[in-house]
Amino acid sequence: MTVKRQILVSEVGPRDGLQSINTIMPTASKLQWIAWEHACGVREIEVGSFVSPKVLPQMADTAEVVRGAKKLPNLTIAVLVPNRHGCEAAIQAGADKISIPLSVSETHSIKNVRRTHAQMLDEIKQCMTLIEQCSSTNRPHFEVGLSTAFGCTIEGIVPEHNVIELAKKVLDLGVAEVGLSDTTGMGNPAQLERLVTGIWAQCGSERLTGVHLHNTRGQGLANVLRALDLGISTIDSSLGGLGGCPFAPGASGNIVTEDLVFLLESMGYDTGIDASKLIEVRNRVEKLLPSEAWFGFTSAAGLPLGWTQ
Ligand code: ZN
Repeated sequence: MTVKRQILVSEVGPRDGLQSINTIMPTASKLQWIAWEHACGVREIEVGSFVSPKVLPQMADTAEVVRGAKKLPNLTIAVLVPNRHGCEAAIQAGADKISIPLSVSETHSIKNVRRTHAQMLDEIKQCMTLIEQCSSTNRPHFEVGLSTAFGCTIEGIVPEHNVIELAKKVLDLGVAEVGLSDTTGMGNPAQLERLVTGIWAQCGSERLTGVHLHNTRGQGLANVLRALDLGISTIDSSLGGLGGCPFAPGASGNIVTEDLVFLLESMGYDTGIDASKLIEVRNRVEKLLPSEAWFGFTSAAGLPLGWTQ
């Protein structure tokens, strides 16, 4: 019997999805959603973001969500933080994985978090100091997500050498890992390959293992395929493609978790996720957010007759 290659599907809906919509989901519903996906076999969920509630009131209860989700066994609870202050709150709440976004487009960084690259690198250093102070048994995994790595809505083309140089700068600080984010959905598979192999050649393949791709221009799963062929092992996605800042009406942002799981499982990868249960969860969560745009083909078409995992 051949052993299937395991791929970690990291669900980002409760953070990336909910922060992009105006509806504020009650804490109990967020925890329900997280527990439902956990019951399908999802083992990593980005549950929220430690940002100012003035900026994103949708994320105001993140500490409570982290504490509630911690009751679920074998679940990596990931959160996003914009700065040292957020990192401190994330550590206090007990997050397992902390990501800080660093926009390769400096214009985007200034607009998004009001900080230049130099200021962000300093912020990252301060986060690392906080994390190093945690006891070794309670130390969260820390990652820097390189956003706008495939293009920027303000600057346009983001030169690939800028992405690779910035990744090297971050990793030289001692950060364990960087991730690549196609924030604007401008990426293509050839570009993804050049960026991944470029960073690997400079910094080592163990320092970049995950990608965050968008489907804004319909390239999401094509990019996933190239990432898989290269050996990337963690793929972010959002239930029903919720969120991810779509730029055009009817266009989705994040890639759809149900479609991703169907792709991976039908190709023979092991996600540990029950696709049929996941579609039921999508339908339940969709009912909790009926006024939002929901995406995905697999939930509409259904799993093929005789589908087994
Ligand atoms: Zn996204």
